[in-house]
Amino acid sequence: MLQIECPYCGVRDEQEFTFGGPSHVERPTPECSDEVWTAYLYFRENARGPHAERWCHSFGCGQWFNAVRDTVTHVFHRVYAIGEARRELEESRQ
Ligand SMILES: [Zn+2]
Repeated sequence: MLQIECPYCGVRDEQEFTFGGPSHVERPTPECSDEVWTAYLYFRENARGPHAERWCHSFGCGQWFNAVRDTVTHVFHRVYAIGEARRELEESRQ
């Protein structure tokens, strides 16, 4: 069974968590073009390797957090708070 480290509770079983999609996706302004809005709604990076994602410890503390997970091996390289910068992803790719 996959183990995920919650930054607030520690390591727990995967079943306690809910996947929340990619992290660091910025919502465009309301004045943006239809193409920009369509890209925001429907197109996401389909990374092979380290990928920044949002996870929720829904059957634990209930907190959302970011994680860098390798989409090939499912290894979690690091977990970090929602407000932290995307540089965490860049550091994990090295
Ligand atoms: Zn937790």
